[in-house]
Amino acid sequence: MTSVAFIGLGHMGAPMAANLVNAGLTVRVFDLVPQAMKSLTDLGALSSSSACGAAAGADVVITMLPAGKHVRSLYLGDDNNKGLIDVVADGTLLIDCSTIDAQSAQQVAKSAAEKGLSFVDAPVSGGTAGAAAGTLTFICGGENGAFELAKPILGHMGANILHAGAAGAGQVAKICNNMLLSVLMVATSESLQMGIDHGLDPKVLSEIMKVSSGGNWTLDKYNPCPDVMPNVPSSNDYQGGFMVDLMVKDLGLSQEAALVSNSSTPMGALARSLYVNHARQGNGTRDFSSIFEQFTNSQQI
Ligand code: NAD
Repeated sequence: MTSVAFIGLGHMGAPMAANLVNAGLTVRVFDLVPQAMKSLTDLGALSSSSACGAAAGADVVITMLPAGKHVRSLYLGDDNNKGLIDVVADGTLLIDCSTIDAQSAQQVAKSAAEKGLSFVDAPVSGGTAGAAAGTLTFICGGENGAFELAKPILGHMGANILHAGAAGAGQVAKICNNMLLSVLMVATSESLQMGIDHGLDPKVLSEIMKVSSGGNWTLDKYNPCPDVMPNVPSSNDYQGGFMVDLMVKDLGLSQEAALVSNSSTPMGALARSLYVNHARQGNGTRDFSSIFEQFTNSQQI
């Protein structure tokens, strides 16, 4: 039976790891926050007191961490700590599902390859609901052979397992997607509020726009206006979901990527500025659909 080490059990990692346990795999978990392991050990996962302890002896290592610095230090180690690539067994497949900069993913892939290990960058789309339902989209970068090995494991957690290209390509595709998502969320929010300001019912307006040319994922799955849709963060005071701070991180990554390629991304730059402002007003740990409130509080003239 395949044994998996799963490291990083936050909003996304915990439900993803739960799906691996439920699929009957042997899963050993680790998170810096010990309480984060409890829901997994209750399900039957084994816990470990360190990331290296979880990874040693595993067939597959999966990480779901906040940012590039966490991924680099965990895989590559530093002056005081060994990295995962120093302790895993020969032939271990390494899969990082965090959203990070492409350069960090390429650096880890190169160091892993020097030790004869395969590394796949596999950031995800689909949010916490997709993580819980096992319907995530995995956007992968890496060698063909490594991608083929990763596919059946990722299939326990997702519905779409896509190969974007070589190492780092998964991260590039992911930040293109999140830049677009942020723009859609802001534009949907301002459109809904303008309708409300003119006396429209946001539920009715949402149904109209869903089947019209403005239809988009935020209207279908993640309406930012409270009480239009059940079971989304906007109907739960914007708790859970995808934090504003993480969207700010992703929009920083997309602007850095635009600089590298000299691409013109005016909408992404504006969305980053709006989200930074929203975070600075104390909304960093709320769901990213709370950007809606930037429009609801505007003064009538
Ligand atoms: P989170 O902050 O809820 O979880 C991160 C977890 O990693 C925390 O539990 C933290 O304790 C743990 N961690 C950090 N450093 C560690 C280390 N060295 N060893 C072990 N554990 C460590 O974040 P999240 O919402 O789960 O997001 C994780 C990644 O997925 C991010 O890169 C994010 O951009 C991306 N993402 C999130 C969503 C979403 O809807 N939340 C959707 C798609 C992608």
